[in-house]
Amino acid sequence: MKLVFATNNSHKLEEVRKILPSTFQIISLAELGCVEDIAETGETLEANSLIKAQYIWDKYQMDCFADDTGLEIEALNGQPGVYTARWAGEAHNDAANRLKALTLLQGCSNRQARFRTVVTLIRGGQIEQVEGVVQGTIASEERGDGGFGYDPIFIPEGHTETFAELPASVKNSISHRARAMEQLKNVLI
Ligand code: IMP
Repeated sequence: MKLVFATNNSHKLEEVRKILPSTFQIISLAELGCVEDIAETGETLEANSLIKAQYIWDKYQMDCFADDTGLEIEALNGQPGVYTARWAGEAHNDAANRLKALTLLQGCSNRQARFRTVVTLIRGGQIEQVEGVVQGTIASEERGDGGFGYDPIFIPEGHTETFAELPASVKNSISHRARAMEQLKNVLI
């Protein structure tokens, strides 16, 4: 069964290809020949993952899914949420984003946060959404040099190390994205 994953992120593609049975042929946007930048104009993770999946369905009528992830910090009323990638301004400035989180939480004892990934699947025009969550806390300073994004400041529940200090195999077995992809698998098989 062919399934388009509305991403060009090679790490995400590799991860989902490992999780889903090989009977699913996962096709990236590049493989589909889709070069447009799909504008993420939604105000929630649900809306943005739906926008991406709906774009593919409307244009190609192919079964597809899309993901959207946010870091939700309890003491900041769930910020940065849908703005996680571009919180400090320019998109994907990971260092500035982490600094913003550490600065806003300075002196704050509630460090609770979670990563949440929403996946929207469209099959035969039918929309289904699943999510994956990893609870944790925001560290008081950056630690570790693995991973990407907010990994150096996020300590997943049940661990003392940040995602950037933990081996990738550990992170990938408990991450929000892995959990969302497992949920996707449950829906698909
Ligand atoms: P996306 O929706 O997967 O593009 O994720 C949005 C933003 O969330 C990314 O630009 C990162 O800043 C952050 N993010 C997503 N997943 C992770 C992760 O596993 N570790 C750290 N940061 C992440």
